[in-house]
Amino acid sequence: MPDPDDRDSLAGLPLDQLVACHECDLLLRKPELKTDEKAQCPRCGYELYAHRHNVVERSLALVLAALLLYVPANFLPIMQLHLLGQNSDDTVWSGVIGLYNSGMGGVAVVVFLCSMAIPLLKLLCQLVVLLTIRLNRGRSYGLLLYRFYHHMRDWGMLEVYLMGVLVAIVKLVDMAELSLGLGLLCFVSLLLIQVWLEVVMSPHQIWVALSGEDVHAGD
Ligand SMILES: [Zn+2]
Repeated sequence: MPDPDDRDSLAGLPLDQLVACHECDLLLRKPELKTDEKAQCPRCGYELYAHRHNVVERSLALVLAALLLYVPANFLPIMQLHLLGQNSDDTVWSGVIGLYNSGMGGVAVVVFLCSMAIPLLKLLCQLVVLLTIRLNRGRSYGLLLYRFYHHMRDWGMLEVYLMGVLVAIVKLVDMAELSLGLGLLCFVSLLLIQVWLEVVMSPHQIWVALSGEDVHAGD
């Protein structure tokens, strides 16, 4: 943890030795971290950054797992509905098509972007960024894509979609015979892997690796 008492000595230090807390803007001297250590802000407790081991390899494994789950999560039935003798299998994709066909084109586009297109683009960006670091090639493109990824982050809203599904299940369960599909399991797994990925893929280490200051981000 950085020492808050040496803030007076910050003047004159080169900028690359300083770090500002993302949450409360406290300026600190950048602490040297060993593997699996993390630095916290002494004022608000926010994790400034962490030095995790095998960041690139572990993140790559998680990105690939998420990409594998992406197709079944979106195209396998989230739930099966049996109502008045009719059965329907509902997938994320059929939901988008259903919205579009019932005249809600705008909503269909938003759902498509936030629950299908942007999550996929985010994963592909992460994959390419990690590959440029792993293969030590085209890091300038990696840098560009990682910036793009940070702009897209707020627009992938799988968790909002999941909340919508849960609300629909609770509402429909009294009206119709409902069974949960394999798609829902894949969808929840995809969401959990993405949360795990956010934790493992330490942005600080990725930025440092992409800017070429440290080629040992995979240590
Ligand atoms: Zn802080």
